Amino acid sequence: MINVFQPTLGADELDAIAEVFASNWLGHGPRTKAFEEQFAAHLGVDPGHVLFINSATSGLFLAAELLGLGPGDDVVMPSASFVAAGNAVASTGARPVFCDVDERTMNPTAAHIEQALTPDTKAVLVLHYGGLPGEIAAIAQLCRERGIQLIEDAACAVSSSVDGTACGTFGDVAMWSFDAMKVLVTGDGGMLYVRDTELALRAKRLAYHGLEQSSGFTAAKVSHRWWELNVKDFGRRIVGNDLTAAIGLVQLARLPELITRRRTNSELYDQLLTDTHGVLLPPQTPKGHTSSHYFYWIQLDPTIRDHVAADLLKEGIYTTFRYPPLHKIPAYGPGHPELPGTEKSSENTLLLPQHPGLDTNDIHTIATALHTSIKHHTTPTHN
Ligand SMILES: *Cc1c(COP(=O)(O)O)cnc(C)c1O
Repeated sequence: MINVFQPTLGADELDAIAEVFASNWLGHGPRTKAFEEQFAAHLGVDPGHVLFINSATSGLFLAAELLGLGPGDDVVMPSASFVAAGNAVASTGARPVFCDVDERTMNPTAAHIEQALTPDTKAVLVLHYGGLPGEIAAIAQLCRERGIQLIEDAACAVSSSVDGTACGTFGDVAMWSFDAMKVLVTGDGGMLYVRDTELALRAKRLAYHGLEQSSGFTAAKVSHRWWELNVKDFGRRIVGNDLTAAIGLVQLARLPELITRRRTNSELYDQLLTDTHGVLLPPQTPKGHTSSHYFYWIQLDPTIRDHVAADLLKEGIYTTFRYPPLHKIPAYGPGHPELPGTEKSSENTLLLPQHPGLDTNDIHTIATALHTSIKHHTTPTHN
């Protein structure tokens, strides 16, 4: 079976875990701190604004709380978003206002965002599709001009940037995901970035029971009766730990290598699939943009897309589609506008296997199976 996504973990990650076991400190501790510092350096931001948490989903819910979203507020976001983003907004009582995306990049343009703004828009929430930054710089400028908060769901964009500025640092709050299928994997985990200093401190409290100190052991160094609680916010417990941070530190050091392998996969796909009748390749990245190459996707005739996916599955090649449009989901309410780019791309897009574990043979196998299937379904007698 060729998987669509897959982690790349090895001896170095295992050694790092063994060290944590030997230290007997598995909780939030020195490795968590080191991971936050090194990730902040990777982003080019102050480490005081970065927090290692247990998932990007936790980060989305925390962002909604930090920005004070609630009933009467609108949040403009692409319908082509991950379900956790819709849930995080809707759970506060705020209204998700779904905007369209470019049918090729699957990212919203600044114009798509602007068209969807309402007088009650308090925040905009965007992601970077498959690692493509999209018009994030223009969207950030638009939000600044209008006094609207910008949340970047940077789950796909751990190594994406525009003219040297890391995706996730354009807006007010951002989160990255390190779950088992992402580019940088810690098992489960995520990073949170909060631009405002006060809000960053509040995020840290809200991530750990509303407390200033993350453990009594730390508190013991600065106060007697370190077991007493000073609750400042009604927080949850969504912090990361030293076991997952240890894996994250190794994966972060390996990130350039992991991205290079992904880029090589994309280039080979481009080469093998170019000129395939009826197949559109992912759009070129504009000058100055870098991608994390999280997804490799093709677009094809919507009447054959599902058949092609089924044929590939029969050949042991697992493909998928991200992100099924949220405006079609009844839970997010009625009355959404037509979103032609979203609807078209949700019917014609297929994500091919993309991860560093693929070798040249795998990609040749996938390309051959794809050619055969497409040919089969586009020959009139077989339709
Ligand atoms: C994976 C993903 C998430 C959720 O991340 P978790 O760490 O699994 O909670 C959120 N947004 C996007 C765009 C994702 O791809």
